[in-house]
Amino acid sequence: MKIKFWGTRGSIPVPGKDTIVYGGNTTCLEIDLIGGKKVIIDAGTGIRSLGREFESQKEDVDIYLLITHIHWDHIFGFSFFSPIYKSSTRILVDGDKSCMKGLRYSFDNKMGDGFFPIRFEELKADIQFINKLSHSYLEIDSTFIDSIPLCHPQGGFGFRFREGTKTLVFLTDNELDVKKRSFSDYIAFCQEADILIHDSHYRPEEISEHRGWGHSDYQSVLDLALSADVKKLVLFHHAPERKDSDVIKMTILCQDLIKQKKSNLEIEAAKENSILIL
Ligand SMILES: [Zn+2]
Ligand SMILES: [Zn+2]
Repeated sequence: MKIKFWGTRGSIPVPGKDTIVYGGNTTCLEIDLIGGKKVIIDAGTGIRSLGREFESQKEDVDIYLLITHIHWDHIFGFSFFSPIYKSSTRILVDGDKSCMKGLRYSFDNKMGDGFFPIRFEELKADIQFINKLSHSYLEIDSTFIDSIPLCHPQGGFGFRFREGTKTLVFLTDNELDVKKRSFSDYIAFCQEADILIHDSHYRPEEISEHRGWGHSDYQSVLDLALSADVKKLVLFHHAPERKDSDVIKMTILCQDLIKQKKSNLEIEAAKENSILIL
């Protein structure tokens, strides 16, 4: 698998001098599978640049689009994803059961006079909801993808990709340490993952004021990664107020905590435009 981050930021895009390193765009990942197919996760503002990349390659776009949930920061970029305006594009959508509603509402949510000059029905691309992940798993060539419900207001899904012996888990907008879902379920889902990408929106001292907002602090995420024997943890969904220097500080702090535990867990923070190979 090749994983590229097109958007790493949580809640709202924050372009500017303070977010040059880790990026200001909201959630979007591009995952190249071993069989040659492509899976995109979420349509945050990062998906706009991905669309431009597709345009430069001049090949027909034939992709899977998995949507974790339809909060604004995860779908807002869809109407600016240029391949949706081409009849040669095919997009198979899966993920949270409300995902088509979210993509549709990024064009017109019937509030005021709508959001966008054209309607969802006018898009030229073939966009189909395949609806596998809410009750089963998705098999794409030799890659298996399954899901777990998120602890997040209005719900959502986290995803696990398995290719041979390699496992990638993506869990964003997930509040660990709440009673809704047992911590042990997440440990089982992440067990021995090669890479776990997890929302670490808060510092531990910030979490008590934001209980129930649907995000985790880095200490809970470290506990999950250690308990599940994860090999590499990637901190994700950086809070909009977190400058590059703050993300670096948080990462170093996490690495120090891990050293004290004498663990080999690798830790890094997700950077826009960076690539991980698995
Ligand atoms: Zn979010
Ligand atoms: Zn959310």
